[in-house]
Amino acid sequence: MDLVELVRQAGVVGAGGAGFPTHVKLNAEAEYLIINAAECEPLLQTDQFLMRERTAELIGGILLAKRQIKATKAVIAVKGKYAQEVACLKETITRLEADVEIHDLQNFYPAGDEQMTVFEVTGRSVPPGGIPLNVGCVVSNVMTMINVFEASQNIPVTDKYVSVLGEVREPRLIKVPLGTPFEACLEAAGGTTISNFCIIRGGPMMGGVVSQEQLSGMTIGKTDGALIVIPADHYLVTRATETETQIINRARACIQCGFCTEQCPRYLIGHPLHPHKMMKAVKYAEEINESHQEALLCCGCGVCEMYSCPMGISPRKVNFYIANKLREKGIRYQHDGSEIIARDGREFRKVPPARLISRLDLNDYDHQTLHEYREVAMDEVFVSLRQHIGAPSQAVVSVGDQVAKGQLIGATPEGQLGSMIHASLAGRVVSVDERQVVIARG
Ligand code: SF4
Ligand code: SF4
Repeated sequence: MDLVELVRQAGVVGAGGAGFPTHVKLNAEAEYLIINAAECEPLLQTDQFLMRERTAELIGGILLAKRQIKATKAVIAVKGKYAQEVACLKETITRLEADVEIHDLQNFYPAGDEQMTVFEVTGRSVPPGGIPLNVGCVVSNVMTMINVFEASQNIPVTDKYVSVLGEVREPRLIKVPLGTPFEACLEAAGGTTISNFCIIRGGPMMGGVVSQEQLSGMTIGKTDGALIVIPADHYLVTRATETETQIINRARACIQCGFCTEQCPRYLIGHPLHPHKMMKAVKYAEEINESHQEALLCCGCGVCEMYSCPMGISPRKVNFYIANKLREKGIRYQHDGSEIIARDGREFRKVPPARLISRLDLNDYDHQTLHEYREVAMDEVFVSLRQHIGAPSQAVVSVGDQVAKGQLIGATPEGQLGSMIHASLAGRVVSVDERQVVIARG
């Protein structure tokens, strides 16, 4: 069986992003395989742990993927400030005589946005509305490459490494079976230190906020990598829970200073994205049409909203608002074919993480170093059938079935983009619906 099929059957999806099925990415040819090891969102430490502790599997997966896509170069893009991790990578690369390079990324946000990573490594700008493959690159991340290596050994994706930090008693890195409730993850980190809290699912810049009321029923999926507990009245919660009316009303206070555009990472690599112009569209209630299509180029990094804007406005959410209107009208981005040239001064407009952490009011948690690691055993898991981009998987087990860990429980619908789902616990299926499969130990 070839690697693409092994990866498909193992249910490997992009472990750090939206969960794009990896077998589709690997079914291509490219000059570069780039591993995004920037872990640029503030506070997260999961990839750093994996680079230290699972280095051989990581390099093994990279070599397999490199051969699969016929890449001439495999490059790990990692921040030079992760000295210990870089040392582990170099030692393993030398020991395995692996033809893998390390690219020393500067410490800025969002170094891990895949188009930024491509630009940093190759100097090439992905065309607006395009994908890295358009400039000869396939980009993947650390955990995905480890999963590719395991897939080559017929080991499917059943577990996830998660950073749990913030307002918890024992901030730590945990490994949990897929389908573990968030509450169990918090318990594994000693429980919360405050009674009125919210959780950031993912990074503080691009992750979603989960309130205590929403917590019940939330479980770990293939794309989760961090849970950060913060007070319910934290600045990040306030910003994340603004209503559309509040966002639009605030946009009317825009002073057209242009800072949002001048620091927009996508604008800086040459894309025709000018968030300040989108603010005008809302401010003057323009009819949304093709002339606003650049809103579709926004990657949602949040630099404009959480760092640049002196007025506390949300250009990112205004972009999303406009993009939704465009999609409703069936308008897609059409690039006019003009040459894409990175803007002068890009180097000087990169966002330093330390200042970003201050702006986000996260200094209290910046000192939390996750040296402690724990594997969490569960007696019951709630495995979602939608942990990826594409069609939800369809359950292939029934209530009462005994399943082994790693057994297929959800399959991709015939002819559709999707991913296989496997049992993360050996036990008995106690519930099945179109949303999830519940498995109890024993
Ligand atoms: S969120 Fe803002 S800074 Fe980021 S890409 Fe979109 S417009 Fe640019
Ligand atoms: S930074 Fe804020 S005030 Fe300035 S143009 Fe952008 S949205 Fe308007």
